[in-house]
Amino acid sequence: MDITNIKFNDLGLVPAIVQDYATRQVLMMAWMNEEALKLTIETKKATFYSRSRQKLWIKGETSGNIQTVVTLDYDCDGDTLLIQVIPAGPACHTGNTSCFYRNLVSNEDLATGNIEILGNLQSLIADRKINPVAGSYTNYLFEKGVDKICKKIGEEAAETIIAAKNNDPQELVYESSDLIYHLLVLLNNQNVDLDSIYKELTKRHQ
Ligand code: AMP
Ligand code: ZN
Ligand code: ZN
Ligand code: ZN
Repeated sequence: MDITNIKFNDLGLVPAIVQDYATRQVLMMAWMNEEALKLTIETKKATFYSRSRQKLWIKGETSGNIQTVVTLDYDCDGDTLLIQVIPAGPACHTGNTSCFYRNLVSNEDLATGNIEILGNLQSLIADRKINPVAGSYTNYLFEKGVDKICKKIGEEAAETIIAAKNNDPQELVYESSDLIYHLLVLLNNQNVDLDSIYKELTKRHQ
C-alpha cells in the first residue's frame, strides 16, 4: 500500500472525514498522522492522532464504539481523507450518532424532502435526552416515559387513519409527520437506533 500521495500538513497531520457506510451519514472529523493512517489501513480500525492528548487514539478504545473501515479514499490534492466505516456505536463523545447534530444554517427553501432528515431528527432527539431544554416537548415525553409515548403513537396513528379516510393529502402529511416523530422518540427511549430499521428494511428489500 502506497501512502505517498497523502499530503500531511505542517504539523504532520491530515484531516479524515468519517462517514457511516450503510447510511452515508457524516459522523465526525478527526486528524491522522502517518502512523495513525498506517495503523488504520493495517487494522481496519479507524485510528487518529489526538492533538489534545498528543497521542495515537483508536476511536472507541474506551467507549467501545470502534469504527471498522470499509473504504478509505483521498481527495484530488491528497490533503483530505474520507473513510466509510461500520460504527459499533455513536461517533460523538456526547453520545450522539454523529458529531454534526447542531444546525447553524438551514435554507428552508432547499433543505426539504431529504431522507437525511430522519437521521438528523434522531440526532436532535438524542441530544435533547443528554442536554434537556426547558419547555421542550421531547423532554416532556421522555419524563413521562414509555406509556405516554406509546399513547401518543396510538393517537397519531388514529389521526393518520382519519386523514386518509378524509382524503386530505395535507392532513395526511401532517399526521404522518407527527407519527414518525413520536416513533423516533419511542425508538430512542427504547435504545433502538434508526440504523437497525434501515438495515431491516434493506434486508427485506433484497
Ligand atoms: P473513544 O475513542 O470513543 O473511546 O473516546 C475516547 C475519548 O476520545 C473521549 O473521551 C473524547 O475525549 C475523545 N473523543 C471520542 N470521540 C470523539 C469525537 N468524535 N470527536 C472528538 N473527540 C472524541
Ligand atoms: Zn483537498
Ligand atoms: Zn463529537
Ligand atoms: Zn397529530
